Amino acid sequence: MVNETIRKLELMRNQKLARKVIKGLESRNMTGYYADSAEEALQQALDLIPAGSSVTMGGCMSAHQIGLVQALKDGDYNFIDRDEIEDKRAAMLAAYDADFYLASVNGMTEDGQLVNIDGNANRVSAIAQGPKQVIFIVGMNKVCDDLDGAMKRARNVAAPINAQRFDLQTPCVKTGSCMDCKIPDTVCCQFLITRYSKHPGRIHVILVGESLGF
Ligand code: SF4
Repeated sequence: MVNETIRKLELMRNQKLARKVIKGLESRNMTGYYADSAEEALQQALDLIPAGSSVTMGGCMSAHQIGLVQALKDGDYNFIDRDEIEDKRAAMLAAYDADFYLASVNGMTEDGQLVNIDGNANRVSAIAQGPKQVIFIVGMNKVCDDLDGAMKRARNVAAPINAQRFDLQTPCVKTGSCMDCKIPDTVCCQFLITRYSKHPGRIHVILVGESLGF
């Protein structure tokens, strides 16, 4: 009963905040959507991707969590699975030529700016250009009040967890927050702030009223 009440209150807040975020995205030539649940977000994403499309992604846990990756693999799509392509350069080049690229953010602002940090830059470069359309799956847990907050989240929450995921020897794996390292294992080489999209209809952001990714 308590959990249900908390969830209801959380959803009310997320719905209101999402309206503000979507307006912010629109002012930046990007399109925002809101889904209360992972199931709704999955349907929203599939509505955007016509059958037969080529689709690929960087490391986007949120797309896995809502069941999108499995749905694309099972459905009538050309899903390019980079993990199954031995030649990593070929996989990277295929991503630039895809119809759709799936991603999330490491942080975003209430006024619609997207923040991503990358080690190899395959993800941030594909977000910036290449794939015809980019679909972001973003749990409302990643929405921060301003750019400073989004950057802090990216560096102190997303990056350390990502470094843990790959069993890297970075200081943040030991401390749990960013120590501004400059070592070969760092996952923080390139920072991308998507402030505005030059290309109408290219960037879609599906906000989800659940905690997704990290
Ligand atoms: S300690 Fe290094 S790898 Fe970890 S978040 Fe900071 S800059 Fe990135």
